[in-house]
Amino acid sequence: MPAPKRFTSNNSNAKRKPDVKKQTNYPKRDVRPVAPKPIGERIFIYKPEMNVAEVALGLGLSNAAMIKKLMQLGLMASINQVIDRDTIEVIALDEGYKVEDEVITDVTRYDEMELVDDPKDMVKRPPIVTVMGHVDHGKTTLLDAIRKSRVVEGEAGGITQHIGAYQVIRNGEPITFIDTPGHAAFTEMRARGAKVTDIVILVVAADDGVMPQTIEALDHAKAAKVPIVVAVNKMDKASANPDLVMKELSDHGLIPEAWGGKTPFVYVSALKKQGLEELLDVVQLISDIEEFKANPKRLAKGTVIEAQLDKGRGAVATLIVETGTLHVGDYIVIGNTYGKVRTMQDDLKKRYNEAVPSQPIEITGLNEVPQAGDIFMAFKDERVTRDIANERQSRQKDTESKSVKKTSLDSMFGEMESTEKELNIIIKGDVQGSIEALKGLLEHIDVSGFHVNVVRYSVGAITESDVTLASASKAIVIGFNVRPSAAVKQVADQQGVEIRLYNIIYRVQEDIEAALKGMLEPTFEEIVTGTAEVRDIFKVSKIGTIAGCYVTDGLIRRDALVRVLRNSIVVYEGKLASLKRFKDDAKEVKYGYECGLSIENFNDLKVGDIIEASQMKEVEVD
Ligand code: GDP
Repeated sequence: MPAPKRFTSNNSNAKRKPDVKKQTNYPKRDVRPVAPKPIGERIFIYKPEMNVAEVALGLGLSNAAMIKKLMQLGLMASINQVIDRDTIEVIALDEGYKVEDEVITDVTRYDEMELVDDPKDMVKRPPIVTVMGHVDHGKTTLLDAIRKSRVVEGEAGGITQHIGAYQVIRNGEPITFIDTPGHAAFTEMRARGAKVTDIVILVVAADDGVMPQTIEALDHAKAAKVPIVVAVNKMDKASANPDLVMKELSDHGLIPEAWGGKTPFVYVSALKKQGLEELLDVVQLISDIEEFKANPKRLAKGTVIEAQLDKGRGAVATLIVETGTLHVGDYIVIGNTYGKVRTMQDDLKKRYNEAVPSQPIEITGLNEVPQAGDIFMAFKDERVTRDIANERQSRQKDTESKSVKKTSLDSMFGEMESTEKELNIIIKGDVQGSIEALKGLLEHIDVSGFHVNVVRYSVGAITESDVTLASASKAIVIGFNVRPSAAVKQVADQQGVEIRLYNIIYRVQEDIEAALKGMLEPTFEEIVTGTAEVRDIFKVSKIGTIAGCYVTDGLIRRDALVRVLRNSIVVYEGKLASLKRFKDDAKEVKYGYECGLSIENFNDLKVGDIIEASQMKEVEVD
């Protein structure tokens, strides 16, 4: 949107009142100077082709007043006449309105909207490669070897971090590798509509031959209509039998080029780093033939490869730009969340201001953690971004509440009279790995026919939307190393939603099993007594870190157990080492008071941390 034009008062006067003398002809009225109306308080939405009457309506003027204003600008216009944006801006500014262009608000249509690219803007982009194959055939070793070959080549040095995808430069041209071996992620993404692979490298161990997952991977690659390169791995082994691999794959329709077919087979040893150059050459050859293209001139669109909640940086996501160019400062919608790109870096921690097609990039600045496979779209306007995210969120709520099977929690935990025989659970956790492990464990529980139905599982703090879903589906919320904010906890209490917090996976399993057996009768329960916010940090030699805190809720006792929360993630659990009011030791400090505290064996407190204090309390067993 172009910035509203600025007029100096002299200029605008000159434009508005071309003939000052004429003013004296007007009937006498109050001519005391009027303070100019502040600009920007009210917004006038400009739509193309607006006529005089429409503008008058938008500015709250009568048609006559509007026509008079135009006359003052030297324009004779009827009410149906279309007026240009500059003129509208002058009048709007005078009336204290800021002019903004209309944005498309029918956000439901965004998913279907596709920009049509001008063919002359389409340029070659690097291929995106996924490595698949049977377990233990060497996928991870191959991906590592390729990544390290880049470091050895001296194109980039330093410590790498896993961000889910990386690029290597071969013959001056980049190739993008998805750093998540296996076809599970590939399939999941495809199921969600993401097309994030151009070429599949199918790894088959020469000493083991075609195995069940080789066939599965092959089926997925074929279904996606993606070109396949076979990497016959472990060629260094004495027992390697590449001919057998070729024969077996031929039976599945992959005829090697050497046998007159179309599929390139490359012999490699990921362990000994042999054959990698040839493999990359073949990938580039396919890329040249297929001519993968994108338009870098448009706003970016692409896919989330990985996402997580980072203790220091908040929601972090690795994206692959499919088309367009993503810039720092762009607003983006990802799945149901949105944000503004704050930083971008690659797996070598190199910072970027923009990311071009096929480039994998880790971004920060999102409001929530998106899911792998989510599609992202960049926008220049924050309002559109927020509207789309909200619209999607409410659509998701609708579908989720319709699809969940309702079950009564009371009956589940009580007499087990439920006819549904299912316990609905929402899992929230700090990393994808643990929530997936938890989901797997819980879904396998079977207590006399009762089992667990995971309604939602995702990375991130427990939010109000989780509580709403739990309430709608009579589910309980499991927080693994994450917690709800005070506001969310309040909503959960109001709606009678149970939130259970854990940091050990098997405890969750134990509790759920016990619950299903109707045996969940804890003799001790942890009662949160209060929370405090760290406002200042003092390092005292010999004693350690003292946090200057403000008690924001309840009270903190000297003998409390404490949790340190940073961005809703538990970063430490332990005991208080000291609690003071001014210089004196205190037994307890209540809401609204300041205190100084330190924590046993923990000195890494930071301003903004939340200290949650609790007490173990015996609970009556009935
Ligand atoms: P993945 O399950 O497919 O990711 O397989 P990994 O990369 O974890 O490899 C499984 C095992 O095979 C590991 O012990 C590797 O060291 C070994 N391996 C991988 N590539 C080679 C190779 O080229 N030669 C030999 N001899 N061993 C290999």
